[in-house]
Amino acid sequence: MALEIELVPALSDNYVYLVRDAATGTVAVIDPAEPDPVDAALTARGWKPSLIFNTHHHGDHIGGNAALIQKYGCRLIGPAAEAHRIPGMDAMVKEGDRVEIGAEQGVVFETPGHTKGHIALHFPGGPALFAGDTLFALGCGRMFEGTPREFWTSLLKLRALPDATKVYCGHEYTQSNARFALSVDPGNAALVAQVAEVDRKRSQNLPTVPSLLGDEKLANPFLRADNPDLARRMGAPDDPVAAFAEIRKRKDNF
Ligand code: ZN
Ligand code: FE
Repeated sequence: MALEIELVPALSDNYVYLVRDAATGTVAVIDPAEPDPVDAALTARGWKPSLIFNTHHHGDHIGGNAALIQKYGCRLIGPAAEAHRIPGMDAMVKEGDRVEIGAEQGVVFETPGHTKGHIALHFPGGPALFAGDTLFALGCGRMFEGTPREFWTSLLKLRALPDATKVYCGHEYTQSNARFALSVDPGNAALVAQVAEVDRKRSQNLPTVPSLLGDEKLANPFLRADNPDLARRMGAPDDPVAAFAEIRKRKDNF
């Protein structure tokens, strides 16, 4: 695999990703939550990042930008729609734009819902999806700025990617997401099996991230709002937007 991806736990439950293209040695940092653990992980590997990508403007995703730029002179790339909320951006990207980490090509998806301008980055060579706070393992981000229709449309874009795609999300929320998912979709055998695996990993203090997009398609209730049984149980048969809205509301109150 041409992309080496290292996961760096930061703050209380964030994941920062160090992404290195083996062919060129180019290193990117995705969503540096805070500087110190990221810099320590880079130093331990002898990696010098030349790029930072931000998926959205929240402080727990951009908090390490300034210190890493100061130390390494990284270029900062982020969503055009949030340029006014992310200080120091060098390049602004939109839906369909190509991005590069060395020789590895990626593509930008605009995924509004958690924030208005949120983006996700897909690198087919991983295959890896950096989903920020749009899609979590067995969950999705809180709908702070978008509408249910926007958020559902964003999730459909990500759901269209290949099953083998590894999902690198912004937080280790999987175990609580799993408890909620079981509450709305208790008869889902794929979900039950995945929850057992999540519990096993967490009991050993192992990360549950990355997950496989194919597994998310089978078990993540937020990707299944158009599943007839789940939608009916949410009181919204044949209306995935309303079913998604109901699932999101129940999660907020779980
Ligand atoms: Zn966020
Ligand atoms: Fe976050």
